[in-house]
Amino acid sequence: MKARRNSVKNSSAVENNNFKIDEQGRVDSSILFKQQIASEKTPSPSLKHGTFSLYWLTDFFFTHGLVLIGLAYASQKLMWLQCFAELFVIMTSFIMTGSVFVVIMCGLYGTKQQTNPPQTPEIWQEALDSIKAMYTFAALAAWPLYMYKDGQPMGLTFSLAEAQPWAPESVALYCLQLVGATLIVDLYSYIKHKSMHSQYLFQFHAMHHTYRDPTAFASFAVHPVESFLTFVPVLGMCFPQHKVWAHAYGLWTFGWALINLYLHCGHTIPIVEMFLQPLLLNSSGFHNSHHQKVSIIFF
Ligand SMILES: [Zn+2]
Ligand SMILES: [Zn+2]
Repeated sequence: MKARRNSVKNSSAVENNNFKIDEQGRVDSSILFKQQIASEKTPSPSLKHGTFSLYWLTDFFFTHGLVLIGLAYASQKLMWLQCFAELFVIMTSFIMTGSVFVVIMCGLYGTKQQTNPPQTPEIWQEALDSIKAMYTFAALAAWPLYMYKDGQPMGLTFSLAEAQPWAPESVALYCLQLVGATLIVDLYSYIKHKSMHSQYLFQFHAMHHTYRDPTAFASFAVHPVESFLTFVPVLGMCFPQHKVWAHAYGLWTFGWALINLYLHCGHTIPIVEMFLQPLLLNSSGFHNSHHQKVSIIFF
């Protein structure tokens, strides 16, 4: 999330079945995005072209495959399915209402950063792609929730004393611990995003960059491979050694999601920037530039 600016690569034109990058580093959305829009009415591009690519195979595995694994390995299958459904509904509702909230705030207090804001069909596609990411999130997060409900030993706890066994019970000390954890998560996000821009992984990240002027609805509009890499740390809570205080974790997760919604809103809201900049966090202007030109990397 930190603003690591002006790392500009010399890019040359790149093209494959899913995306194209021109000499200036702009992702050409005419291939993948038009396929997505067209797929609402016609068979998916993989079926249409008779190909069975890694792109579509991983798309299936990191969505439905994860749910099938959950149903295969959970001893109480109905309980696991309930946990999955609860998390999917909660997170989808939050992301969608949060996006509407951010769009309203931008209209009231924001300064527009975009010259070519998206049209309604593209915004619908953004929302659908973000909802799909919540499907992958729910298939992963269902595991710790299932273990908690099933009474199995795991990391999530509502007791501060239990979450902080190495020191006297203190909210301030836990907040300090949370700052350290945030830095580790930030480093992970940075490495993940940088890796997604590598030669082999960019085909999965290109989908996010097809939204050159995104709205908040595109905040989680990524390929399921990227969703998996983003949300897989949640499985850490399955281990009893990784104690997490539920109250702080809930607040932290919703705060992080809200920042991500803001980064994609295409507007600058001065009061939000006032908080983000002293913390060296990315701004919506930086992230919009990154969407437009993949060779400009702010992360
Ligand atoms: Zn983005
Ligand atoms: Zn990127």
